[in-house]
Amino acid sequence: METIAAIPKYNLTEEQEKKLILREYRSLLRSLKTKLKKGDKELVRQAFELAAEAHKTMRRKSGEPYILHPLAVAKICIEEIGLGVRSTICSLLHDTVEDTDVTLDEIEKEFGSEIARIVDGLTKISNVIDVNASMQAENFKKILLTLTDDPRVILIKLADRLHNMRTMESMKREKQLKISSETVYVYAPLAHRMGLYNIKTEMEDLAMKYMEQDTYKDIARKLADTKRERSRYINEFIRPVKEKLEKAELDFAIYGRPKSIHSIWNKMKKKGVAFEEVYDLFAIRVILDSPPEKEKEDCWKVYSMITDEYTPSPERLRDWLSNPKSNGYEALHTTVMGPQGKWVEVQIRTRRMNEIAEKGLAAHYKYKEGTGDESRFDKWFQQIREVLSTQETDGVDFLQDFKTSFLAEEIYVYTPKGDVKMLPIGSSALDFAFSIHSVIGTKCIGAKLNHKLVPISYKLRSGDQIEIITSNKQKPSEDWLNMVVTAKARNKIKDALKEERRKVAEEGKYILQRRLDNIGAAFSQFNIDELTAFYKLNSPLDLFYRIATKALDLSELKEFKLLGDKLEPPKPLKPAEIKQEGAGTMQPKKDAELIIFGESSDRIVYTLAKCCTPIPGDDVFGFVTTGEGLKIHRTSCPNAARLMANYGHRIVKTKWAKNKEISFLTGVKIVGLDDVGVINKITNLISGELRININALTVEAKDGLFEGNIKVYVHDKEELDELVARLRQLGGIHAVERYELDDV
Ligand code: MN
Repeated sequence: METIAAIPKYNLTEEQEKKLILREYRSLLRSLKTKLKKGDKELVRQAFELAAEAHKTMRRKSGEPYILHPLAVAKICIEEIGLGVRSTICSLLHDTVEDTDVTLDEIEKEFGSEIARIVDGLTKISNVIDVNASMQAENFKKILLTLTDDPRVILIKLADRLHNMRTMESMKREKQLKISSETVYVYAPLAHRMGLYNIKTEMEDLAMKYMEQDTYKDIARKLADTKRERSRYINEFIRPVKEKLEKAELDFAIYGRPKSIHSIWNKMKKKGVAFEEVYDLFAIRVILDSPPEKEKEDCWKVYSMITDEYTPSPERLRDWLSNPKSNGYEALHTTVMGPQGKWVEVQIRTRRMNEIAEKGLAAHYKYKEGTGDESRFDKWFQQIREVLSTQETDGVDFLQDFKTSFLAEEIYVYTPKGDVKMLPIGSSALDFAFSIHSVIGTKCIGAKLNHKLVPISYKLRSGDQIEIITSNKQKPSEDWLNMVVTAKARNKIKDALKEERRKVAEEGKYILQRRLDNIGAAFSQFNIDELTAFYKLNSPLDLFYRIATKALDLSELKEFKLLGDKLEPPKPLKPAEIKQEGAGTMQPKKDAELIIFGESSDRIVYTLAKCCTPIPGDDVFGFVTTGEGLKIHRTSCPNAARLMANYGHRIVKTKWAKNKEISFLTGVKIVGLDDVGVINKITNLISGELRININALTVEAKDGLFEGNIKVYVHDKEELDELVARLRQLGGIHAVERYELDDV
């Protein structure tokens, strides 16, 4: 709801504004031109006029007339997603019911029920998203329910989000962070799953631009600095290949394509390397213009010509020609050894495949309509429906499950009869068993894989043929939850565990009843609730269960004072006495005065999150926990996106106050040549020259390399950066990076 009027940044006259709007409208019509049938133009015009009139008095944060937003969203739908007239109309109307006096009835009267239904879906989605941030996970479930009705709702929503991300500059920093993390957490994966690679990439890049400003700028600058050198290399790589393809009289285009800043950054983090060490800053793309019946053949022909010239890496061939991804992606990927001994990724596909790769689902439908090959999408939608219909878990859980089981890439495995099953990457034999039937899952004791016996936790790989072995004595246990990734298996295991728990809990109930009798207290709901709260348990069921399994010592019951038939628990602990996690990472315990909230200078008690161990100078935010006060996370924390997306209302803007007296524990990982004296050099630099306190140091050497983890106390990020920079300058050091203390 970026509709709050702000002072316009620019001063267009009313006349100029009108012209600008008309120009955008005409340009929209032009991009729709080939898709317009008789009568369509009038409908689009009608939608535009209705929206323009309805949003007439509204402006975006930037000061622009609001109508430019729906116009831009419509254009994204046409040009970047490949949608048509109906979606254009819906895009133009997408914010009217939500933000103006226009009603759904009016839209239905003017445009019919199909369009009204989509606009309704769009309104409901943004309603929940924008009004109540905490409802997002639950809302996401709704998005998917709508999606199963009409994928256009989700596609238009993605276009809406993309345009908002592109035009976020005038917003407040908190809002930018919140929208960015939501985008990374929900929308980018969804775009990916719909096969909209370009949109996914742009969303991630834009989000990173706001969440990791410095790193983003840094990589962007380095990319620009090395551009010339890269082009030279790409040309050198392409030249011999081009000659070969020309000789074979193929109709093709070949070019180098830079990887996105976000994906480069991901690689740097994953491999713990500097920008200079990321070898694949680009990929080579060959796009073929082949007739449908020769597509595969031509792609393989190109593959063979390229690998004649450059040696391929055997593990890095990806054949999505024979087995397209479920989002429709088809291509052949390989990595070859290019000039100067550098690995280069090559992607080979036809023009048709390229369009699917760029525009995804919509383009896919366009090509495949009526050919009966929509089964992959059907399967996916079917899976979603299945999970939605069996869900009783809360939204956050659901979102987790959704992400792991539907947004992950998939593998293909075979039943003994040769039927193919599609499962997410990381699936185990147990997942496979549950995918066949829940009874087979709960009774699974192992599996036979290509005639070899494997445990239920065995991680499946594409191409595995697998047979499940069952036993009637088998029962699911808690640790099974760690062995599965699919929502179906997880839910069925939880159900079975719950059932088992219920049986055991019955017994605990009896024990408690007798116990309460003994001390003269009632076995009342009130007392049960009091006890549940006292032991910090989630439910009476937990209480009974723990009593039955003797995990709870009921001797403490005597400490309760009796008030008539009520139990009174001891006074709850004061917050200060509940020692918080993260407190151990602070050297002196003067933790109360470090953070300033919002624009005021109120000082508040907080703790530092263990998962990302922030230090002064890091970009941080506060998160209001239940029971543990305020916790400070880095905006780059792996948990940050999840927290911000799910609990936006509990995020508090924070910044560091200057304070040089307190030090913070952080970790540095060093990889280098294992030579004598290197440890000496390192410790001399840290504690000698820089006078930084070392808390712990572990070194592991292997194959002539060593990896050292050093925990040090620093005052702020500046000091840490200096330390890292100085370490990098030492001879024999390959990589130095900060690591999360939780990693080790
Ligand atoms: Mn919008």
